[in-house]
Amino acid sequence: MSNLSTTAIGPRDQLRRPLRDLRISLLDQCNFRCTYCMPVKKFHENYQFLKRNERINHEEIIRLVKIVVPMGVTKIRLTGGEPLLDKNVAQLVEKINKIDGIDDLALTTNATLLKKKAQDLANAGLDRITISLDSIDQDVFYKMNGNRGNVSDVIEGIEAAEKAGLTPIKINTVVQRGVNEHTIIDLLNHFKGSGHIVRLIEFMDVGNQNNWNLEDVVTAKELLTMIQSKWPLSPAKETYRGEVAKRYLYDDGSGEVGFITSVSTPFCGDCSRARLSADGVLYTCLFANKGTDIKTLLRDGSSDQDIENVFTRVWLARNDRYSELRNSHLPNESPKKIEMYRMGG
Ligand code: SAM
Ligand code: SF4
Ligand code: SF4
Repeated sequence: MSNLSTTAIGPRDQLRRPLRDLRISLLDQCNFRCTYCMPVKKFHENYQFLKRNERINHEEIIRLVKIVVPMGVTKIRLTGGEPLLDKNVAQLVEKINKIDGIDDLALTTNATLLKKKAQDLANAGLDRITISLDSIDQDVFYKMNGNRGNVSDVIEGIEAAEKAGLTPIKINTVVQRGVNEHTIIDLLNHFKGSGHIVRLIEFMDVGNQNNWNLEDVVTAKELLTMIQSKWPLSPAKETYRGEVAKRYLYDDGSGEVGFITSVSTPFCGDCSRARLSADGVLYTCLFANKGTDIKTLLRDGSSDQDIENVFTRVWLARNDRYSELRNSHLPNESPKKIEMYRMGG
């Protein structure tokens, strides 16, 4: 007998997880070339990114959001690529913000273009912003992002977001052994007491381009020991089920640090996230190797109900838990994964 089920608050997947969170990649282009995401060797100046008409457009995004909210989605995150390269991103935020039923509208950015856009985004109704910053040491920053941008632009972007009221600001930092781990204390020190929340992310094996190796992952446990030796920390209470980061508070009251332990302690059991790529494909796991084409349905006259039915069917069949199974995958056995810059982080 099948254990497929649909409840009053939308479908539950094969592991009884609801669909609550949709991450939408606005475009696959980026002004950075982070070594762990879009290494410059592959994403060179002649690399062919999606053409405009190959990407889902804002009207299509709005239509989809209206379709998924009644299925239980309450959180929308705009991402990419670099979402602030989309010149009309604030207008899109404004339109999504008008849709009833969304509790949390957020955006993830490398913040190089944020200084100019923060106030418009806040005025348009963005609730929260997450900023990626791997080091405040300019040399290490360059080394990780392919020699692009300046730390000072990111810091100014963060200040602008704070001024615009996009708080609390989360700062995501991917930690790689031998690359930026020695600059983590400086980064934490910079934001300690600011109200911004740094979240240290274990380097993940997303995509196929970043030469991921388990030995390059600095685990949350190692990081915690390193930080504790300087500033005592105590675990914070979970604020909601399925919280992605393990949160710790500085004992001296100067704020919190989060750890995203997707490699050392996976959290697939609570994963209620789906992703829509820049080319309109629906994925149910960050490590997926295949997805479901939604863009064609948006353009071939399919009704909203047809599209909802496809979302429901895909979600009901979902059994992804890649991170929990990571250690049982043999490297040569795994099919090619979809790249994160396209699917959206
Ligand atoms: N360009 C935006 C940015 O960097 O914030 C949004 C898209 S980016 C793909 C989203 C997030 O994914 C970033 O915080 C980035 O650090 C993270 N990310 C990308 N590749 C990763 C990897 N291999 N391991 C861990 N995090 C990764
Ligand atoms: Fe661009 Fe973000 Fe990927 Fe870095 S992590 S290359 S900023 S999409
Ligand atoms: Fe969710 Fe897939 Fe990550 Fe597990 S590995 S938490 S299912 S995105």
